[in-house]
Amino acid sequence: MTADAQTSMRFDHVTPGQRVLFGAGRAAELLAAEVARLHAQRIMLIEDNRDAAAAITARIDVAVHHDEVAPHVPVDRAEHARAVAGANDIDLLVCIGGGSATGLAKAVALTSRLPIIAIPTTYAGSEATNVWGITDASGKKTGVDDAVLPGTIIYDAELTMSLPKGLSVASGLNALAHCVDAMWAPRADPINAALATAGIRALAQGLPDISRDPGNLGGRERVLIGAYLSAAAFSSAGSGMHHKICHVLGGAYDMPHAQTHAVVLPYVLAYNAPAAPRAAADIAEAFGARTAIDGLQKLRMELNAPRALKDFGLPAEEIAHAAELILPFIPPSNPRAVTVDDLEQLLNAAYAGVDPTHYNS
Ligand code: NAD
Repeated sequence: MTADAQTSMRFDHVTPGQRVLFGAGRAAELLAAEVARLHAQRIMLIEDNRDAAAAITARIDVAVHHDEVAPHVPVDRAEHARAVAGANDIDLLVCIGGGSATGLAKAVALTSRLPIIAIPTTYAGSEATNVWGITDASGKKTGVDDAVLPGTIIYDAELTMSLPKGLSVASGLNALAHCVDAMWAPRADPINAALATAGIRALAQGLPDISRDPGNLGGRERVLIGAYLSAAAFSSAGSGMHHKICHVLGGAYDMPHAQTHAVVLPYVLAYNAPAAPRAAADIAEAFGARTAIDGLQKLRMELNAPRALKDFGLPAEEIAHAAELILPFIPPSNPRAVTVDDLEQLLNAAYAGVDPTHYNS
């Protein structure tokens, strides 16, 4: 169902089975307790920073340290990590790092069915989804498999303190995009709408705290909770119009993931909001703003968010072609019909960074 359906409610919602353990400064203690609970004997640690991971794993025995983490999980890295796990008789994967480290652990779990404990150090949210991604010469392939969903997530906000302010804001805005798009994605329902609006509240409060003071632990905790809620909502609701646009732009023009999301989101919100009044009202309320777009814009200004696609590598002469590439991916559930002209207008506005508030009125 869509969030704005006026008929009686009918939906199938699957709540993923995950243990979510949360506590600043508690990662080492929580990890040791989880390893004992699972009776794991042969642990493969997938880490993007060996120094940072050392303190967290001080209380457990690690059979193999594996730090060959790269963005978007190149297929050769995935195959090598699978071979290492197989050769070392591994019975548990522990990943410590951003979405790229989690992604590599998921690639191993996809073929080995090994359980994962994920300890995220960014706000990407991959730890709360059953979505995997692997990149080969033909591009990034993604899929859904419950075997890649980490059985346990350990959130320790102290591990995100070293994440630079710019990366924190970009990663947090990406999480915000999961929340907004979840309101009209193909499997949108009242349960994931509740997760998404709670995520918007947490992110809208925590991100300005981090932007003002990257050492604000309370702000970091709020954004971690927002990241989890956003990913849980997104995983359940699926990809909506916003994610489809960004996925095509990223793949076809090699545009940076977080910045592309940060620029495109207000234009998709401005486009869809008039056709999704209930979702728009819920988003506005979560932002504490008069309208959804006012709330998003105020936050983006406060965070000095990226504004225009022209700054991130989209060639102007490709806009018409990009609109044609995107159109087949727009989910039929989108609250407003979309034509290739609509997409071209949206991309032109996002390219130039014009005020999204009334760009299509
Ligand atoms: P990333 O994991 O590549 O990390 C970005 C950079 O930050 C890296 O250089 C990393 O070493 C560094 N870093 C990580 N934590 C740090 C910390 N605490 N302090 C300092 N530096 C730190 O990037 P990401 O944004 O976390 O993840 C992006 C990837 O995750 C993409 O491939 C994206 O497609 C994927 N992703 C997947 C899902 C899913 O559901 N499968 C969801 C979200 C993102």
